[in-house]
Amino acid sequence: MAACRSRLDRLATSALCARAPVPTRCLTLSGRSGVALGSSAGAHGLSGTKLQPQWCATRPQQQQRQFSTPTSPAIPRFAFAFDIDGVLLHVNQPIPGATAALQHLHRHNIPFIFLTNGGGRYEADRVADLQQRLGLTMHSGGGSSALTASGAHDPNCAGPLPVLSTANFVQSHTPFQELLDDAAGLDDAATGADNSSDGGGRSGLRDQTILVTGSDAARVRTIAERYGFRNVVIPADILAAYPAIYPFNPLLKSVYAETARPLPKPLLLEGGSLAVQSGDKTLSGVDESQYLRIAAAFVFNDPRDWALDIQILTDLLQARRGLLGTFDPASLSAKGSEGGTRLFFSNSDLLWAAKYHLPRFGQGAFAAAVAGVWAQMASPEQPPLLSPKGGRTTLLGKPNAATYRFAERTLRQYRASLLEAHASRASPAAKDAPLQTVYMIGDNPDSDIAGANQFSSAHGTDWCSVLVETGVYDPARHRDSGDDYLRHRPRSIVSDVRAAVRWALQREGWPADF
Ligand SMILES: [Mg+2]
Repeated sequence: MAACRSRLDRLATSALCARAPVPTRCLTLSGRSGVALGSSAGAHGLSGTKLQPQWCATRPQQQQRQFSTPTSPAIPRFAFAFDIDGVLLHVNQPIPGATAALQHLHRHNIPFIFLTNGGGRYEADRVADLQQRLGLTMHSGGGSSALTASGAHDPNCAGPLPVLSTANFVQSHTPFQELLDDAAGLDDAATGADNSSDGGGRSGLRDQTILVTGSDAARVRTIAERYGFRNVVIPADILAAYPAIYPFNPLLKSVYAETARPLPKPLLLEGGSLAVQSGDKTLSGVDESQYLRIAAAFVFNDPRDWALDIQILTDLLQARRGLLGTFDPASLSAKGSEGGTRLFFSNSDLLWAAKYHLPRFGQGAFAAAVAGVWAQMASPEQPPLLSPKGGRTTLLGKPNAATYRFAERTLRQYRASLLEAHASRASPAAKDAPLQTVYMIGDNPDSDIAGANQFSSAHGTDWCSVLVETGVYDPARHRDSGDDYLRHRPRSIVSDVRAAVRWALQREGWPADF
């Protein structure tokens, strides 16, 4: 406890200190809107207006740090959202200054979340791996004194929450959990409405049958089940039960054989040659509850067998009310059918930087392939599949608004936990302080920066974009190609995450002495 008190004393004293210098070049730029799917492709041959560098300025005085005393800790009116790859890690190695920056924020109880387009692993597993790579202990900053004898967090101690946990970690498919109890939750997020105003009258997907796929569909199924989805089907299940659905030799035959489970219900083979061959007829008045109905299909990360997955997803798009095996002619019409399977893509990055010298396809390429095939099948008057007007598909991941909406909700909950932990010492006015600014620290102008610039917070929070030079953004290439390279303009460009955090703290009038 003494150690905690000492830390709080230092915190109160340091609030009065002069701002630390920011030893990096720093640009203040005007923002500009951009596109979602295929955003990474925008890094090639982009157009834009000329950058107008200015000296960075601190924020107006009214946004300076609230005065604190040892018994009334300051409540920051700002927070951070960190991208991971290219900001905190480079090829899985920590970027210098990353761990120190996180620990500094943690010591000062400044809330932050991790916001990544990565995925394919369960959140708790990814968090444990990230802790190890960044050298973060469970209570770094709070130390063992942050725990009571029973192992609970000591609310009187600085740093009561872990530096990194699932509570402040958002990866591409984390928002899928919103659909467990509210099937339209992410739709509201996309349109900016607050789903808390609904009154909880909508049903979720927890007990409905869903289809999931990804780089390892069996592992993805496990993740979905750990989220709480109770009826999860993968393409291998369908292929094993109905091999004729894909009339080619499967590329991943052994994988499918090892991972397939029996389908919970049979397909309703209605209206096609399969039905004729099997002796079924076009059915009316049939008890549809006896057949497999897939309410939603989720792409967790990059699928490996595009051909099989596209076949099954387009089968679902054609099906009547999600009954795989049926065909609804209206699905191909200009108006399209209603009540069918919804599609969710967790990441819309068309390209990403890998070890190969040229960018590689990301999940956005798969989504574009599904949409391209569907465009060849459906009426040309039908809205594009990936368009919000299409009504069937939801795109997640940065820069999409649904992900920023979810991230802000996560950050507000995490911040509330910090405030609650310090409730005994914070003044009532301080505890009511709104979250004014979120500093989005990212390396990808077309993802991190574009999303922050475009997002409109329902709570009036300003998402301030800060671009670092340790990842996708290459300042040398920027110089070579002129200003056209930066279509989405950050508020500031700094060398790395340490400089980014220092810049933001200086802007807020907080100590940046790390
Ligand atoms: Mg990145």
